Amino acid sequence: MLTQAPRGTKDVLPAESYRWQFLEKKMREAAALAGYREVRTPVFEHTELFLRGVGDTTDIVQKEMYTFRDKGDRSITLKPEGTAGAVRCFLEHNLYADALPCKMYYLNAPIFRYENPQSGRLREHHQFGLECFGAKEATADAELILLAYRLLQDLGIKNLSVEINSIGCPSCRPVYHTRLKEYLGGKLSQMCETCRERFERNPLRVLDCKEKKCQELTKDAPSMLDLLCDECRGHFDQLKSCLEQAGIPYRVNSRIVRGLDYYTKTVFELVTETKDGKLTVCGGGRYDNLVGQIGEQDIPAVGFGMGLERVLMLLDADGIVLPKPPQYDVFVTFMGAHGLRAFALVQQLRAGGIRADLDHCGRSLKAQFKYANKTGAPLTAVIGDEEAAGGTVKLKNMAGGEERTVPVSEVCGAVRNMIG
Ligand code: ATP
Ligand code: MG
Repeated sequence: MLTQAPRGTKDVLPAESYRWQFLEKKMREAAALAGYREVRTPVFEHTELFLRGVGDTTDIVQKEMYTFRDKGDRSITLKPEGTAGAVRCFLEHNLYADALPCKMYYLNAPIFRYENPQSGRLREHHQFGLECFGAKEATADAELILLAYRLLQDLGIKNLSVEINSIGCPSCRPVYHTRLKEYLGGKLSQMCETCRERFERNPLRVLDCKEKKCQELTKDAPSMLDLLCDECRGHFDQLKSCLEQAGIPYRVNSRIVRGLDYYTKTVFELVTETKDGKLTVCGGGRYDNLVGQIGEQDIPAVGFGMGLERVLMLLDADGIVLPKPPQYDVFVTFMGAHGLRAFALVQQLRAGGIRADLDHCGRSLKAQFKYANKTGAPLTAVIGDEEAAGGTVKLKNMAGGEERTVPVSEVCGAVRNMIG
């Protein structure tokens, strides 16, 4: 128990964190190119925000939230998704009073869902998410889809496809609800228990069921796309034109409804084929009524969330190796009496922007070499009696065996020179 992390959580080890940092850098760059700036919101919010924002008929709210009472007897929930917190922040700080759109992203935001842990499904995962407030045009939807697609493609992820759908708005969706309920009504007894509940509370969600049996039963279900009002249809057409203009392949998939209640018009997913089947790496859509539902301002918005663990999983599956920086550029080894010199040399190297270290564990010179080798440092610096007496350092190239003895004052330049 003491040495075991809770089920569905994962440590990122020091030797692996460079992979996360690499992704984070790419994500920041992609967001910045389109004018998105970082927002950081708390890990927990008032439970009410998610009941209102995510919707109390969703799987997330019904089954997956980490909710508890704090010592002040308030109901608190660990973020089960990123958008509601961003909306709360947007409203609380009157960001709508500035010129819109207001573009923000969050990176590495921890997301908590009490799920059944399995491959690609954790109880704590991390998302890169973008939200664009105040933009009603489909160009905003399209730029988000493009940003996500290009980012994943740049990383080298293969077999990526963009699936889009429109789930209409409060003026056209009710008609669809009625049609869908008529269609589902007769099949209900054969469906899973959750779908029978969904049928009552939110029939659209039945299309999102992951059970094979239910998917089979709904494969000929009526499509929302046939019932879109003129405005929603025009918006969807504009989205498709933008994607075509940008030259990215997409597929209209009328079964994509997304797991959250707040979506209107556009919904989309970026999916890949893996050996275990289809994996959604990014999901998002438009939520024109969410801001008004949480606050008073009626402000359209669109966004997406991308799971970092799933991106890393796909990189692994595709055999893509990310550049790994060495822990040290140079490891300083020393003979017994010269520890203080070695210590000073390490400080000098670090001040010169060179990753350096020395032994802190009382190793013999031989063991220091062995350790230096293990760290993967391309160079070692040696301070023996001779070097100490002459005010010099011997630099050794670990791979090539090249050696150079240089005055201590010139060590930074020499190191840079040797590692190129
Ligand atoms: P799914 O249909 O796979 O359950 P979702 O619709 O619940 O996904 P979103 O709420 O849209 O997912 O979350 C956005 C992204 O976050 C997903 O596309 C996925 O990459 C990632 N994600 C969601 N849930 C998990 C989880 N439990 N573990 C790891 N990553 C997740
Ligand atoms: Mg889910």
